[in-house]
Amino acid sequence: MDIPSLTIDQIREGLERRAFSAVELATEALRFAAAENPKTNAYLHFCPERALGAARRVDEKLARGEQAGPLAGVPVAVKDVICTQGVRTTCGSRLLARYVPPYDATAVSRLEAAGGVILGKANCDEFAMGSSTENSAFGPVRNPVAPDRVPGGSSGGSAAAVAQGTSVVALGSDTGGSIRQPASFCGVVGVTPTYGRVSRYGLVAFASSLDHIGPLARHVRDAALLLRIMAGRDEMDSTSALAPVADYGALLDGQVRGVRVGLPREYFQGLASETGDLIQRGVEVLRRLGCEIREISLPHTDYAIGCYYIICTAEASSNLARYDGVRYTLRSAEGETLLDMYRHTRGEGFGAECKRRIMLGTYVLSSGYYDAYYLKAQQVRTLIARDFSEAFREVDAIVTPVSPFPAFKLGEKLDDPLEMYLSDIYTITGDLAGIPCMSVPCGRTAAGLPVGMQILANHFDEAGMFRLAEAFERAGGPGA
Ligand code: GLN
Repeated sequence: MDIPSLTIDQIREGLERRAFSAVELATEALRFAAAENPKTNAYLHFCPERALGAARRVDEKLARGEQAGPLAGVPVAVKDVICTQGVRTTCGSRLLARYVPPYDATAVSRLEAAGGVILGKANCDEFAMGSSTENSAFGPVRNPVAPDRVPGGSSGGSAAAVAQGTSVVALGSDTGGSIRQPASFCGVVGVTPTYGRVSRYGLVAFASSLDHIGPLARHVRDAALLLRIMAGRDEMDSTSALAPVADYGALLDGQVRGVRVGLPREYFQGLASETGDLIQRGVEVLRRLGCEIREISLPHTDYAIGCYYIICTAEASSNLARYDGVRYTLRSAEGETLLDMYRHTRGEGFGAECKRRIMLGTYVLSSGYYDAYYLKAQQVRTLIARDFSEAFREVDAIVTPVSPFPAFKLGEKLDDPLEMYLSDIYTITGDLAGIPCMSVPCGRTAAGLPVGMQILANHFDEAGMFRLAEAFERAGGPGA
């Protein structure tokens, strides 16, 4: 049992052959994860009781000759912004350091019902705000590929756990790139499904109109399976979609001949870098596989960063208003009046990035500025979404880089929030449009740093996106 390289298929076969039991696998996975975690700080805490309980249920079902589920025995890390009943859910914030949710997120209960084994909760930027996981109140995560570098963010703990092999798959959340960018920095697969594909029930809200839960894995096939299990309508989230969920795995046949792939001019301008070269080589692989490559234009791309940081801060300022020290954990002992108590609680509880966003968001929503900023940003968002709808009349998928550069050094961008925001340039448009998008490994730089290729598809066409990604992975990426 080679824990760091296990696939879901191998676990299924191992359990069927009785090579190991689910409890043996969970025990060994927990031991390995705890031993390796100090190298990265990918997990904030483990939940061995819950993991062993889930594994025991899998073994009992197998002993009775029943189906134990498509994820039977699979070790999973869950980003700590996703609620787990009875297991601390901190959102990487001092404010929620002791918060224990009384319920499970729908994504969590679905993956456990499918036999998944949750090992623990993954580190992340505070309330998922950031691109490096350096905004966690519980210390940054180190990139397992290059320990002096960030793993990306905000789902940096989830990506690091999968890359390090301390989980087989992981759940992340993405509002502006937080699954794809860390996946690209750590050299794993990360998927942001169509908005509404996966229920947000139990995902602690950052910017509700942009938030998604999605899978991270070492292989496209595993990510596709995890998504299929989590996806689909949920009564608890009125924005979850009724659209039928395909058996993505069954559709992965490596056949992409004739698939029309668009390269948006705006994303490749000025990309003279190792990242750009690797993506170009990746595109050549797709061409060799029979894809028809076309240049396209997404003319409103330039406005995406401004638009995103207005909408996400506005929604964050309203979502974070609930942390007032009355209903959730941390409450400051300071303050004579109720208002003082609020001020002290929020002053002590929130980190700098959350405060910055609350202030920005409150400003863009305030009377007199609402029309000039928030409303305008909503209009621009519609134009960006329309760019994509028009592009998808000509092409089946769009390919771009995930990030302008590979993993940067810890601390390198910490003093310059604007620089950090600009690094999201290629990922936020997909969230603004609500379309499915993913990062698939696309080789490494000369220094050995992973680079991810982004694939975007039309609303609810996860199947087409996975098919292209898996064919690319099968072909060996640009290294082939
Ligand atoms: N880096 C982006 C931000 O800081 C995206 C975060 C996310 O997707 N959760 O807002």
